[in-house]
Amino acid sequence: MSVHRDRQPTGFVADTISFSSVDGPGNRFVVFLQGCNFDCLACHNPQTIPGHGPVAGFHPQHTAVEELLHSIRRAAPFVSGITVSGGEATQQPEFLHALFAAVKADRDLGHLSCFVDSNGSCDLRVWDDLMPVMDGAMIDLKCLDPQIHQRTTGMDNGPVLASIRHLQDLGLLYEVRLLLIAGVNDETGLLQRTGEWLADVDQSMRVKIIGFRAHGARKSSLPLIEPSRDALNAAAETLRSVAPFDICVV
Ligand code: SF4
Repeated sequence: MSVHRDRQPTGFVADTISFSSVDGPGNRFVVFLQGCNFDCLACHNPQTIPGHGPVAGFHPQHTAVEELLHSIRRAAPFVSGITVSGGEATQQPEFLHALFAAVKADRDLGHLSCFVDSNGSCDLRVWDDLMPVMDGAMIDLKCLDPQIHQRTTGMDNGPVLASIRHLQDLGLLYEVRLLLIAGVNDETGLLQRTGEWLADVDQSMRVKIIGFRAHGARKSSLPLIEPSRDALNAAAETLRSVAPFDICVV
């Protein structure tokens, strides 16, 4: 994909936080972009999905790269990098590239790592284009089973699986995240197949197992149930029985 960068694009930004310890390696400044191509039943940020606003007190802004750099400079002494999340970060690829390139080129910020937190559903050329300025990506695999994926996100998981493989080939896959919802995508056979698929990409992949939390999630037509801690640990064991993944459970 060829992107013209004569002008610095602005980003449609839902929010930023100056300090997070759960959005990639170390402590990070996080930018949440507005807009998402998924419509997940378990979404905790439904205000970022088109058609789910307006929400009181929520005001996404068109924001220039330089404006964000100003905020990042203030946070820089306390963080090791920035993460762009969403919504879906890759829906604004030109802005993503411009922001990362500006961070890398900045005398005071060039040491910060640049990560993307993504649902992985994008054209693979987005990753190729980001490669020179991006240090890694966390990808959510909502479900390996295409029907369950379609039912819970409204979208096909083919592009997600392709992104995981492609990022691994590029050396940019930092972590795959599995959000488990009790009775929806946590069946042992499915997890076993998921482990086999992931192991085919990388046997030592970093995998984060996240239990669905009802608090803060959108209202859903399906009753979504939180998995127990034991169920999450059992899921980790199922994956470990397949390959020596680097697994954390949260
Ligand atoms: S990909 Fe993330 S932001 Fe988009 S709908 Fe799903 S949970 Fe919400």
